[in-house]
Amino acid sequence: MSLEKDGIIVILSSPSGAGKTTLVKKIAKENNFIISISHTTRKPRTNETNGKDYFFTSEEEFKNLIQNEEFLEYAKVFENFYGSSKSQVLENLNKGENVIFDIDWQGTEQIKKQKLNYKLITFFILPPSKSELFNRLKNRDMKDKNIVEERMKQFNEDIKHWENYDFVVVNEDLEKCYKEIIGFINERVNNVDSNYNKKSILNHIKKLRI
Ligand code: 5GP
Repeated sequence: MSLEKDGIIVILSSPSGAGKTTLVKKIAKENNFIISISHTTRKPRTNETNGKDYFFTSEEEFKNLIQNEEFLEYAKVFENFYGSSKSQVLENLNKGENVIFDIDWQGTEQIKKQKLNYKLITFFILPPSKSELFNRLKNRDMKDKNIVEERMKQFNEDIKHWENYDFVVVNEDLEKCYKEIIGFINERVNNVDSNYNKKSILNHIKKLRI
């Protein structure tokens, strides 16, 4: 992927369970992106490592970080706080590294509003269907039925924000979805118009709302 002098920012958001975290890891690994590791007050899942997946912090520590203006953005998602470290991200961008974020729509809005001097490309990832989303959530480290139900309920709220993103992509097949995202990033970096079918996305959204 061609680099500009400064790095670029790519954001992936999605309703919980659409496969965004896997995509973020794949994009980072195969294209030299640095993942912005968030701080969170959520408890780690069994497969998660501190400092790799998240910086797991107490609520008190998180509030201190807010007070010291250490976050580029932060938000409360599902009763927990999540935030992106300003210094970590800006240092990398200034060194010419590309940075990728796995954050929700609230964080994306905050970053957009700051109008930073870096190219920003935002993606909203959708699941192929509600039933597939349900299966993915169930199979995750979420044996708690209430959490799955809560996240399914949140789904209808989350998808309302799709219009605020540059691109919406459907993650039916990981490889295909990945290639689509990389294609859009390359086009934006090279200032080429994208062949983006907004109408088919609209139809997909309508289907997901039923
Ligand atoms: P999870 O608890 O499933 O890892 O993440 C829940 C949600 O929080 C996901 O939508 C994820 O993208 C979002 N999230 C993770 N880190 C951040 C962050 O630093 N800021 C914001 N605003 N959202 C985040």
